[in-house]
Amino acid sequence: MTAKRMAKAAPSGRGPAGKTPKAVAGSLVRAAEPAVEFGSPFNWCDSRCDRCAVTADCTVHAYSARLREGHILRGEDPDSMSSALQETEDALLSAMAQLTQMATKAGISPEEFEDDGSPAPEPVHISREAWRYLEAVLVVVRGPRKAPPATRPEPLGEAGAAACLISAKIARVEMPAVAADDEDADAIWYADSVPNLLLVESLEAQVSRIVSRVAAANSLPLEPFTCARAALHRSLRPLFDRMPDRAREELRLRIAARRAPSPFVVLDPLDPRQPDAPN
Ligand code: SF4
Repeated sequence: MTAKRMAKAAPSGRGPAGKTPKAVAGSLVRAAEPAVEFGSPFNWCDSRCDRCAVTADCTVHAYSARLREGHILRGEDPDSMSSALQETEDALLSAMAQLTQMATKAGISPEEFEDDGSPAPEPVHISREAWRYLEAVLVVVRGPRKAPPATRPEPLGEAGAAACLISAKIARVEMPAVAADDEDADAIWYADSVPNLLLVESLEAQVSRIVSRVAAANSLPLEPFTCARAALHRSLRPLFDRMPDRAREELRLRIAARRAPSPFVVLDPLDPRQPDAPN
């Protein structure tokens, strides 16, 4: 049990759910007036920097650009598989170094990271539906892939990639939702889960449009996809019901000010604010 949870479990002088009076008062204020402050856009984007409106302020984009430049300076192809593998290895090593440093500071031995043989946790409810949804999309996407390239009707890769991202984002959203009694849960909910749910909603509408068109053009049965889609929507409903109206208003304002990442604001290839736009 973590120190936070142990503190919460202590009974004396505490209010509902083991919270201190100050924490209860704090949560009442939050319940009356929830702060809707989205976190950094790179946490709720589709990673399509090539068409994103917020590249100038994005640290992830700046980091990727530096990596790309490094490959070019070393005479490497920045788009090759070996460059991608090298970047992945460097990122993992750096993450492990940071984790070890944080663990040491917190008095945790690095040996505690090692696999203790426990089975991996089962995916939770919505993630399972998201996985079924992804499988249903891939069935439709793979069908026309067998056709010669010239006769492929739609941006199939885009639908497949968006469905993968939906699945990943739902897993990310669902974990804090499961741990809803954590002290940080409210902050995570508004800063990260809410914009990621809006991202899922946007991507799902895009996938659905493409899949419907591909299925119609290729006489493929759409029912497996529509069933998986309906099940996903049902499982997501409680999270969307919990979302404050002000979240949509916040997104609307950001879109109007072009302060939202791709896919909420998508730059035209000729837009001068586009990173790869011709001069
Ligand atoms: S898509 Fe936009 S927000 Fe996301 S990493 Fe790229 S520049 Fe940053």
